Amino acid sequence: MTLTVAIIGRPNVGKSTLFNRLAGRRLAIVHDLPGVTRDIREAPASLAGVPFRLLDTAGLEDASDDSLPGRMRRQTEAALAGCDVALMLIDARAGVTPLDAQFADLLRKGPTPVILVANKCEGNAGRPGLYESYSMGLGDPVPVSAEHGEGLGDLFDALRPHFEAAGVLDADGRLTEAAESITAEAAGDLDPEWDEEELESLEVDLEEDEIAPVIDPERPIQLAIVGRPNTGKSTLVNSLLGRERMLTGPEAGVTRDAIEVDWSFEGRRFRLVDTAGLRRKARIEDPVEKLSAADTLNAIRLAEVVVLLLDGSQGVGGVLDKQELTIARRVIEEGRALVIAVNKWDIADDRETVLRRLSDRLETSLTQVKGIPTVSVSALTGKGLDKLMRRVLDIHAQWNRRLPTGRLNRWLEGMLSHHPPPMGRLGRRVRLRFITQPKARPPTFALFTSRPEDLPDSYSRFLINGLREDFGLVGVPIRLWLRRRR
Ligand code: GDP
Ligand code: GDP
Repeated sequence: MTLTVAIIGRPNVGKSTLFNRLAGRRLAIVHDLPGVTRDIREAPASLAGVPFRLLDTAGLEDASDDSLPGRMRRQTEAALAGCDVALMLIDARAGVTPLDAQFADLLRKGPTPVILVANKCEGNAGRPGLYESYSMGLGDPVPVSAEHGEGLGDLFDALRPHFEAAGVLDADGRLTEAAESITAEAAGDLDPEWDEEELESLEVDLEEDEIAPVIDPERPIQLAIVGRPNTGKSTLVNSLLGRERMLTGPEAGVTRDAIEVDWSFEGRRFRLVDTAGLRRKARIEDPVEKLSAADTLNAIRLAEVVVLLLDGSQGVGGVLDKQELTIARRVIEEGRALVIAVNKWDIADDRETVLRRLSDRLETSLTQVKGIPTVSVSALTGKGLDKLMRRVLDIHAQWNRRLPTGRLNRWLEGMLSHHPPPMGRLGRRVRLRFITQPKARPPTFALFTSRPEDLPDSYSRFLINGLREDFGLVGVPIRLWLRRRR
C-alpha cells in the first residue's frame, strides 16, 4: 500500500530540486548522470517520515528543439497515468507563464488529483506569482522553497488526505501497518474517476510513443560489472576495452576517469559505470578484499545493464552462491537488466555440471524473472566476449521496449477470457478494465481494476508471466502497478 506522487511542470521550475529533496541525497547521483532513467525517474521518497513513491518528469531541458511541447505532454501524461496525485510546480518568481497555463489545462481535464505548488517562495520575490497562481483553477497553491527546504510542512498537510485515502496514514496521522511494509511494487489505492474520453486520448498518445525511438543510439549504454573479488572483473574490463587500462597496475592513480570509460561494440557505445570497487582494490591491494555491498549497490543504481560475473573455475561452489544471489536479486529489485557471465571458462572443469547447477539455481531461486541470459566467457582469452556483449545489447533493447496500448488491451482480453481472475470477497469477480505501459526501463504496466486489494498476487504474477511470454520480454524485470478504477 503506497501513494505514488508525480512532480509535473515546465522546465526550470525546480522539479529536480524538489525531487532530490524528497527522495534524499543518494539519488542526486542519478541526476548527475543524464539518461539513467530518461522518461520518468522513480524513487522512494518520504515527507515527515511518511514513505511514498515519487515520479518526476525532469530532464526535458535537453530537448531544446521543436519536439519539446509534444514530448513534454507525453511524458506528463505517462506520469499522470502512473500516479495517484500530481504536484504541479510553478516558479513563483517567474509568475504564471503561458506554458504553466498549458500544463494546468492538461491537469484540469484529467482525473488525477492535483496539488498546486508554488516554488522559489523563499523571501518575498515569490509573492506576486503566488497570488497570481490562484487563477490557475487548481485550488490554493502551497508556497515552498525546494532549494531551502521551506514549506514542506504545508506540502505534507496538502498530501495528507491522499496518504489517508491510500491507506498509508490512519485517521490519527499514524502510519498504518500496511504502510510500514511497503514495497516498491506495492499497488496504489486511490480512486481516480477516469473518464472514458480522457482514457482514449491517453491511449492514442501512448500508441504514438511506441513509434518514437526509445533508444538513442548516440547515448552510451551504461554498464556495470559486479561480482565477488577475483572473479575476473578487472580482467574483463581490460579485455573489453581492448587494451591494458592498468586498472590494477601502477597507473591506477589516474583512476578517476575509469568511471567514464567508453568503448563501442558493433557500432553501439558503452560506458562502464562506477568502477569504484575495482579502483579501491588497486589502491589497497588487499587480496582478501570483501565484496563491498555499498560499491555494488552504487554500481547497480548507476547502470542500465548489470553483468554479474561468476567464477566458473571453482566447480559448482563458484556458481551463484548466496552472496551472488543477493546481488542478482538486488539488480532485479532496482529494475535493472541482468546478464550473468560465468568466467574462467578456459580452465573450468565439469562444465556441464556447472551450467546445469546455474540453471537450477536460477529456476528455483530467482523466480521473479524468467529467462535471465547466461553466457560463459574467458576474460583472459577473450572467448565469449562478443556473445556477452550481444546479450547485453539484446537485453537492453527489451528493457527499453514500449508496447502499444491497443495491443496490450487486446492481449488482456484474451487473458481474461481464458483465465479470468478468481472470485474476490463476497463472491464478486475483480474486474480488470484497462492496461497501459506508462514507462519503460524497466517495462512498467498500469492495470486499472475495480478492486486492486482483491486481486491475488498469484494473478498478478500470472499476468506478468503472460506479458513476458507473449511479448517476448525475456530476462528483464517487469513491474505491474495496480490502479483503482470502477
Ligand atoms: P527543473 O527543470 O524543473 O527540474 O528545475 P531544477 O530543479 O533544475 O531547477 C531550476 C533552477 O531553479 C535551478 O537553478 C535551481 O537551483 C533553481 N531552484 C530550484 N528550487 C528553487 C527555490 O526554491 N528557490 C530558488 N530561488 N531557486 C530554486
Ligand atoms: P577481480 O577481483 O574480479 O577484478 O578479478 P581479476 O580481474 O583481478 O582476476 C583475478 C584473477 O583471475 C587474476 O589472476 C586473473 O588473471 C584471473 N582471471 C581472470 N579472468 C580469467 C579467465 O578468464 N581465465 C583464467 N584462467 N583466469 C582469469
